[in-house]
Amino acid sequence: MTIDLHTHSAVSDGTDSPEELVRAAARAGLSVVALTDHDTGDGLAAASRTAEAVGIGLLPGVEVSTRFQGHSVHLLGYGVDFTEPRLAAELERIRSGRNDRLSPVLAKLAQLGVPVTEAQVRAQVGASPSVGRPHIADALVAAGHVADRREAFDRFLHDGGPAHVPRYAVDLPTGIALVRGAGGVSVLAHPWGRHTRTVLDPDTVTRLVAEQGLDGLEVDHQDHDAEARASLRALADRLGVLATGSSDYHGTGKVDHDLGCNTTTAEVHAEIVRRIAARRR
Ligand code: AMP
Ligand code: ZN
Ligand code: FE
Ligand code: FE
Repeated sequence: MTIDLHTHSAVSDGTDSPEELVRAAARAGLSVVALTDHDTGDGLAAASRTAEAVGIGLLPGVEVSTRFQGHSVHLLGYGVDFTEPRLAAELERIRSGRNDRLSPVLAKLAQLGVPVTEAQVRAQVGASPSVGRPHIADALVAAGHVADRREAFDRFLHDGGPAHVPRYAVDLPTGIALVRGAGGVSVLAHPWGRHTRTVLDPDTVTRLVAEQGLDGLEVDHQDHDAEARASLRALADRLGVLATGSSDYHGTGKVDHDLGCNTTTAEVHAEIVRRIAARRR
């Protein structure tokens, strides 16, 4: 059993269609893949049909944009009911915030001497219902201003960067409660990646588990070094929460995130499925 519980399709900022992604997962030898696009479940129906056709398991999910103490934190929600009104309304609000941020970002890029038009960005957004920074990065690449997404983020788009504009995200404890309220299982995505190790310290995680019912931590992720993985695994064990592993695959949009590069055990996957079934109303 090779199980990968965090991937993105072109329905957010990955580059494969949901169908292509599931076929690629089967070719990579995965037995289960979770599709977890940013703030939308729009790719799940197509992914699920393809998974059935190619004979692998599809765990439906979403990666919710949240904020905690001023920092962006990503929350994975598995098995949520996307029609649950409070979650649906919040995801809609987040997607609107992503789209509203576009014109101020474009104004900053123009001032910085690397102009791109809204139409140039829209051409990169494709099947996604909202604009991600990686789409803006792709437009900068297509316009010849930078070589790749990485350069676009390093020079302009990174958090606090010269063309970064904050956007709406749901407060983290509220996000965990919304996932739970929609019958889902919540797992903090790459909790000690990039900039969040200081805000998601062990005491904070302990409180999120005790007070909000957080279900798990993504331990094995490319943004975590060996020490972070070992410390996070020990924390998950101590708190009695689920420890997952995943690729955070984005197609050609992210290097070194190949399908199956990190995996989740069959036992943890079975427990997630069991909790989803138990929470279904
Ligand atoms: P957004 O959700 O539209 O604000 O864009 C965030 C996405 O951009 C994340 O999910 C990452 O995939 C990517 N990203 C954020 N910061 C960086 C960075 N410094 N370098 C490369 N990619 C980044
Ligand atoms: Zn992404
Ligand atoms: Fe993420
Ligand atoms: Fe992700």
